[in-house]
Amino acid sequence: APDVRGREAIFKVHARNKPISPEINFKNLARMTAGFTGADIANLLNEAAILAARAGRKVIIMKDLYEGINKVLMGPQKKSRLVTESDKRITAYHEAGHAILAKLLPHCDPVQEVSIIPRGQAAGYTMTRPENDNSHESKNKWLDYITMALGGRVAEEIVIEDVCTGASGDIKQLTQIAKAMVTEWGMSDLGPIFYGSDHEVFVGRDFGSHSANSEEVQAKIDEQISKIVESCLERARNLLGQHK
Ligand code: ZN
Repeated sequence: APDVRGREAIFKVHARNKPISPEINFKNLARMTAGFTGADIANLLNEAAILAARAGRKVIIMKDLYEGINKVLMGPQKKSRLVTESDKRITAYHEAGHAILAKLLPHCDPVQEVSIIPRGQAAGYTMTRPENDNSHESKNKWLDYITMALGGRVAEEIVIEDVCTGASGDIKQLTQIAKAMVTEWGMSDLGPIFYGSDHEVFVGRDFGSHSANSEEVQAKIDEQISKIVESCLERARNLLGQHK
């Protein structure tokens, strides 16, 4: 994937044959699309052009480009999917929980968009986008990320006083991160030791004494994963409680 300067150049090349509003700043667009390939950028500009045409506009405006970015990242909006008022309310609180925490936590990326219109598999989403191409992911950044990922579930607890299955994707993702923090990235009390991942154990690669963890070591790993998630959960509950 190209860096920010590369993306700006690619935007300019693909925009050459398209009517784009003069207010569009390619530098900003390049900044917002970290991780996009050249093909992704071509794709998002095509989507934006289609949206502009559909809306009867002669030029592509920023709103079209935002939607193009979202479509590339998360799939098309599903406005026709039937959503009940009760589901909308739950999704709204769930997403607000993510969004408020992303705003409050210092190491989270800025919130770009929050929606309760289904897109792809998601009932709603809170999209944050990095402001730069930094590739170092720090412990504090991951702790804030896990806390933010718990925000949906915690908002349900606080407002609806019940919890829903919709948080399963968040739970799976944050657990995987907590596990990697402990077993791969040396970010827990167990210290900078590689404990292998399931994948590597299954393929039977030789990682010395760590190729298969003893039950005792596995118990310690599980304890550390719980500790990380529990502390983030407490932080999410405190912050959302204060900012209800
Ligand atoms: Zn969520």
